[in-house]
Amino acid sequence: MADPHLSVVLPACNEREAVEGSLAEVFAALAQLPQPSEVLVVDDGSTDGTAELVEAQIERQPSLRLIRLSRRFGKESALAAGLEHARGAYVALLDADLQDPPGEMLQMLAKAEQGYDVVYGVRRSRRSGLLRWLGYRAFYRLLRLISDLPVPLDSGDFSVLSRRVVDAIDRLPERHRFLRGMRTWVGFRQCGHLYDRPERRAGRSKYSLKDLCDLAVLGFLSCGRRPLAIVFQLGVALVGSGAAIGIAWAVLAASRAGEPWAAIAPWLTVLLVLAGVQLIAIGIVGAYLGRVLDQVEGRPRYLVERTVNCPPPTAPRP
Ligand code: UDP
Ligand code: MG
Repeated sequence: MADPHLSVVLPACNEREAVEGSLAEVFAALAQLPQPSEVLVVDDGSTDGTAELVEAQIERQPSLRLIRLSRRFGKESALAAGLEHARGAYVALLDADLQDPPGEMLQMLAKAEQGYDVVYGVRRSRRSGLLRWLGYRAFYRLLRLISDLPVPLDSGDFSVLSRRVVDAIDRLPERHRFLRGMRTWVGFRQCGHLYDRPERRAGRSKYSLKDLCDLAVLGFLSCGRRPLAIVFQLGVALVGSGAAIGIAWAVLAASRAGEPWAAIAPWLTVLLVLAGVQLIAIGIVGAYLGRVLDQVEGRPRYLVERTVNCPPPTAPRP
């Protein structure tokens, strides 16, 4: 089997309503390419028959491949599985709900062919609820602030990657993966591609508010060690200001002897603030420690239940 020019990776978790429409649009876009391509659907432990729907299409679409994971490992792991099984000279990462339009993917591929190793989609507009919109905006800006790397603003996983970038990412050994950070870390020639992100075509978002918060924490912890430094600096600042406030109030309270609560309240405030800072600091150190533990355990990022029409991974897993 000759290696395709482009591999399209679609992670899918319970996308029964969306996946057929998505595949139809992806294949329609790929039909415009003169070179051969392949489409890899990574079924992330769906329980709604997504894998069976995809499998049923393989007879009609011989370049369609299915990788079914043994349970839901999360989108980052599904993307890892897709990247490791993709054989193309270029690999495109698309959501299975058509929020990453296949037409834009072709334009991004054209840019990559001009010599860019990473072409990432940058959302000019995003159709989602106000809360999510605000959350995403805040997340990317905070990430930029605390990250050691210049992670591009408003760019998700939607991207086209060259073979050498895919190989480099495949070799990164971390268990906790945050692809957007890894993609920036590998370097090479990168550029953004502005696009309007449409609404999900069918089905519902698989990310709950808690999942999004977890993703944000993953992002912050993946992009350098600056949160640890920030907590340390915050701690020093608070201890300093707390002590100054405490001394000021002690002097004031001494001048108003007779009113004991007036003297105790500010001390209590200072105490609570300092205790809070310590707990936050311990929490952040704990989060890093958890990652170290996971890494030491060395479990695989995902397990494959079965593959259909898909050769084994191209890259040796670290
Ligand atoms: N997804 C996945 N595993 C998960 C969560 C999501 O494979 O645990 C897939 C999902 O099927 C979709 C893509 O990742 O193809 C993006 O998810 P979703 O559309 O729910 O996220 P949103 O666009 O709302 O951020
Ligand atoms: Mg979506």
